[in-house]
Amino acid sequence: MEKKDIDWGNLGFGYVSTDYRYVSNYKAGAWDGGQLTQDANIVLNECAGVLQYAQTVFEGLKAYTTEDGHIVTFRPDLNAERMEKSAARLEMPVFPCDRFVKAVSEVVAANAAYVPPYGSGATLYVRPYMFGSNPVIGVKPADEYQFRIFCTPVGPYFKGGAKPLTIRVSDFDRAAPHGTGHIKAGLNYAMSLHAIVTAHEEGYDENMYLDPSTRTKVEETGGANFLFVTKDGKVVTPKSDSILPSITRRSLVHVAKEYLGLAVEEREVFLDEVKDFAECGLCGTAAVISPVGKIVDHGREICLPSGMEEMGPVTRKLYDTLTGIQMGRIQAPEGWIHVIL
Ligand SMILES: *Cc1c(COP(=O)(O)O)cnc(C)c1O
Repeated sequence: MEKKDIDWGNLGFGYVSTDYRYVSNYKAGAWDGGQLTQDANIVLNECAGVLQYAQTVFEGLKAYTTEDGHIVTFRPDLNAERMEKSAARLEMPVFPCDRFVKAVSEVVAANAAYVPPYGSGATLYVRPYMFGSNPVIGVKPADEYQFRIFCTPVGPYFKGGAKPLTIRVSDFDRAAPHGTGHIKAGLNYAMSLHAIVTAHEEGYDENMYLDPSTRTKVEETGGANFLFVTKDGKVVTPKSDSILPSITRRSLVHVAKEYLGLAVEEREVFLDEVKDFAECGLCGTAAVISPVGKIVDHGREICLPSGMEEMGPVTRKLYDTLTGIQMGRIQAPEGWIHVIL
């Protein structure tokens, strides 16, 4: 298969249309068989449920080329399970796990020419999503839905090394107690846009959101979970019902325990104790781990001992081990690597 003529190393993180996308429609209580299409556009009624009441959920994962030349995805079954939970919370029909994984494989295989070569640092980002498609004006769930997956090639997340981020403690909340913080829904992002735009205007890379009820505990950023390292080398990650359960964070916890022999605590993390940590990172599919060098809480600067030049040593080990597993350089736990081609 001939690869597309793309400058993989200089791709950004933006939408690039590929040849195929996957579509399945839900009507009269059932999903159809689904198919690939070359049409990137969706025609919707003006009153579609997604447009009026934001009934939509999504997922994000990557397809990439391993050292031995296979095209694979990383734990797509966990994306499938998470999307089932997201859909159920928004009263949307569930797209079955096995069909989800099959559809991801189909659409990635069809776009194999867009999967960046091993070593380029680039990946094919895969975006499954679902939305209410029929007209809904009274507030209620739609009766018809569309499940789609598109792919877009994205560049290396860290060009020229991972520079530690500066983040601020946000005065906005991203999730309400007993709300939707734990599901991957567009609505959580719509209301985070103002917070991130103002953070950028003030010179910060990201927002640290606190728990919405007491505003004393660390939750997550707009799109990544926190991972801290104590001065004696323990990995600590916040536990809360309103955090989105990151697959990267869950995988890193396993890697910390089983590959690196580190102690891991999944527990409430108070903002007050952040000053005592040695390292801090943000985990998510896009970057795996982005190091954090500085956290600013209303003018009070918390400078992590790992500094503003590079990843802390434990963060680095976690990053190298997980990316090694993903790329096929290190033996993966059973079921983590899903081979497509
Ligand atoms: C998607 C997402 C993450 C990261 O999850 P991964 O499964 O690791 O990609 C973290 N926080 C939020 C709010 C997210 O939407």
